Amino acid sequence: MHRFNLDGKVAIVTGGNRGIGSGIARGLLECGASVVITGRSSERNDSMVAELRKIGPPVSAITMDVSDEHQCHSTVQETVRRHGRLDILVNNAGIGGSQLPHESDISAWHRIMNTNLTSVVIMSKAAYPEIKKAGAGKILNVGSMGTELAVAGLGAYIASKAGIVAFGRSCSAAWAADNIQVNTVLPGYIDTEMTQARLQKSPFHGRWIERTAAGRIGTPDDLAGIAAFLCSSASDFITGQDILVDGGLVRGA
Ligand code: NDP
Repeated sequence: MHRFNLDGKVAIVTGGNRGIGSGIARGLLECGASVVITGRSSERNDSMVAELRKIGPPVSAITMDVSDEHQCHSTVQETVRRHGRLDILVNNAGIGGSQLPHESDISAWHRIMNTNLTSVVIMSKAAYPEIKKAGAGKILNVGSMGTELAVAGLGAYIASKAGIVAFGRSCSAAWAADNIQVNTVLPGYIDTEMTQARLQKSPFHGRWIERTAAGRIGTPDDLAGIAAFLCSSASDFITGQDILVDGGLVRGA
């Protein structure tokens, strides 16, 4: 199991105060990493830190907005100030948003792009020199299975997630010589506040579960194992990949 051991490693998980980010933070903590979670709500940050603290390794939070360039840079600096290094960045924070292409609201488009995609560019750029200094490391991006589907109302959201895959591949090539691996997970249909708000009340709910080979909606915990794997030395020869974690939904009959 030493290949999965993250003792002494320091990770940032954006959007780690609930949902998929909290599942990923849990996976990294269980393997021994120290974790800094981020989110805009300090109340949610505090309550998730209290819950994750039970696992063992140090965990703390930084209240910040990933759509603010300055706050992205200061998050990386504050993490290094707290722990002396940075080895792992998980770009998970994101928002949904539904609109048909012919009804596109450009301010909503920019909000989705800034939060979901531009933030990944800024956080990755800010983290790179610190991870390089550590001698090796991992960047794990959270995309979406949506990039493998045609969904009429999710153009902006899916475009932002497709951009993450493309940008991640570019980073994987640029930073391979620094021994930094960059991969993207593409979650399927996961039970979080994001899907509870609308999707779970829509006709997609039954249809997507029916298409999922596993026969159920995913949970944030379903992302914990793959995150630990892709952030550990067990995956050192895997980079520039996008990996579905969808219980078989996309490839389902
Ligand atoms: P949730 O809405 O449950 O959680 C989103 C997280 O992101 C929260 O921690 C939230 O914290 C944080 N966040 C949102 N906006 C910002 C911001 N501007 N700055 C900092 N933090 C922010 O969503 P999920 O857990 O479902 O989604 C997590 C990721 O997984 C997203 O990127 C999403 O697109 C992706 N995904 C989700 C799927 C699903 O089925 N649930 C499927 C495929 C992909 P706060 O509100 O405090 O800022």
